[in-house]
This record gives sequence, structure tokens and C-alpha cells, in this order.
Amino acid sequence: MAEIHDSGLLLRRIPYSETSLICHFLTTEHGRISLMAKGARRAKSPFRAALYPLHRLFLTWRAGRTGMGTLIDIQREKALVDENKSLVGLELLSMASGLFQEGDPHGYEELMQALCLLSQRQELEGVCSSAWTLLHEAGWIGDLSHCWHCGEEIAMDTAMYWMGAQLVCDACGRGHAVSAGLRRSMLGVLEHGYIRLSDVDARQWKQMIGLVLQEHGVKVPDSFRSL
Ligand SMILES: [Zn+2]
Repeated sequence: MAEIHDSGLLLRRIPYSETSLICHFLTTEHGRISLMAKGARRAKSPFRAALYPLHRLFLTWRAGRTGMGTLIDIQREKALVDENKSLVGLELLSMASGLFQEGDPHGYEELMQALCLLSQRQELEGVCSSAWTLLHEAGWIGDLSHCWHCGEEIAMDTAMYWMGAQLVCDACGRGHAVSAGLRRSMLGVLEHGYIRLSDVDARQWKQMIGLVLQEHGVKVPDSFRSL
């Protein structure tokens, strides 16, 4: 069997037998795949030092005759996010794992974009904007200048509403108000590194993210649970 090479991000590691791991990756060319890392749980396995999340990995594997491929080699690049943001980074991985299922051709670029934003923004701003970007890239949410229900463009100085897991206009329904100020802050943080969020705005934004995940049956990470 020919060897296959691709860049990937590690999503999950599942113990298999006494010594091996089944690893889930999002890859650039092959989408979401799972590969067998034989002997990866042994102390001396070269896979142990390389199989880290939140690093770009260069993978080499051999396709399986019927099912799962077998990992042959992994090269690891430097971490994509700083140590102090790695917990949130892991939450993004768990979200991505729910958003992009086995066989999905997408996911790598989307997750990479979210991790870059997390690393470039300040703490609160990074948490909110990276998760929001991941949901947006996955196609689960709309943009901030239109009603997600009727598609009408809504001026940035007008209040909108959060209904269930949707941003809607006044005519389409009511829910919690999303003030014009909050919407402008969200847009600002998504586009620029220097815009800061107030605690109140950050809390509301996190809640919106949690509700979108909940609506789609994805486990809501701690950072996005309502208090
Ligand atoms: Zn509407």
C-alpha cells in the first residue's frame, strides 16, 4: 500500500488494546480521518512525543485494505496557541469534533482559522471570537448585519433579538435584546485586535455561542455554559 502524506490537527485519542491508540485528525486534503497509532501507548514509542493537540502535525500513513489506515510517522510543529490559552484551545477542538464528523471533507481550515484568532486576540476577546468564527465557518450561524430568519439587512444602529439560537430582526420575533452596541463590539472584535469587550458583552456573547451548540446537540464546553 502506498504511503499518504498530509498536514493535520489532532482532535481525539482513544485507547485501543493495551498498547495502541485510535487518533482522530482534521487534515487539509483528506478531511476528518481516524488512524491507528500502533504501540503509541508504549513508553518508548516515537508517537508519544508527537501526538499533541494544538500543534500542526505532518502525518504519514498507509491506507487500510478495508478500513482504518495505520500511522507511520508524525512530525510536530510549534504550538499554535500560548500555554495560557490552551484550555480554551482544547474546548475549540471538542467543538470542532462535534461540528465536523468522520468523513467530513471540511474542518482543518476552519479550526486553523479559529485557533489563529484565539492566539491573536486578548483573552476574553479570543474566547468569544474564535468560537464564533468556528461556528460561522461551519455554516451554523449567519452574519451580524442580517436577520438570520428573513435575511433582511439590519442597520448597525438598530437593536436585534436573540431567539432560541438565532439573531433575528424586530419583525421576525422577540427574545433577549441584542443591543446595537453589542453587535458593533462583536463585529469590532472579529475584525480588529485592539477592540475590547465589556464583561457584560462577553457574557452575553458566550451565552449565544452556548445556545447555538446546544441547539445542534454539541456538548457545550465550560467557557460557554450559562451561569
Ligand atoms: Zn427578520
